[in-house]
Amino acid sequence: MALALEFAGTVRHDGHGGLADDLATPEGFTAWAGAEADEALRQRVLELRWAVRSLFAHAAQAGERMDTPHLMDVDRALAIVNEAAERVPRTVRLEWDDQPRLRYVDSADAGDRLLATLATAAIEFLASGERAELRACPAPRCIRYFIKAHPRQEWCKPSCGNRARVSRHYHRGRE
Ligand SMILES: [Zn+2]
Repeated sequence: MALALEFAGTVRHDGHGGLADDLATPEGFTAWAGAEADEALRQRVLELRWAVRSLFAHAAQAGERMDTPHLMDVDRALAIVNEAAERVPRTVRLEWDDQPRLRYVDSADAGDRLLATLATAAIEFLASGERAELRACPAPRCIRYFIKAHPRQEWCKPSCGNRARVSRHYHRGRE
């Protein structure tokens, strides 16, 4: 759950009417992923991130938001997520020193393993019961997703609630 949300949260509102994207530059990508800034890999991670956000938008029934132009239909998003997860076929090996131990092994390279790890985290989250608590923050301009932790939680964080109240007040005008 944490990784899926963290991955989706690599893009957010920049506070000035645009999007701030942690993965927009090779340096940002390296800092976030801890992987070599291979441009082809960065593009694939970006595509996977938008696919995951498209599925989050579908699950949380997010309305029109600032990132909507980047989203894709559910079938395409599913194909991208599943293809990324399938890149690392895994098998088991029995190792026996003191005790018999099961180890998962694969022959993937680091890039495919990164894609598969991110995709698998998204799949496990979206297929879990936690998905029912996924919310798209309704504050003006916010594009974050969050897990509703208690019944009265409306916003991804308190500052979004404050901003929404100020905005409502502003639009209502002085009464
Ligand atoms: Zn928010």
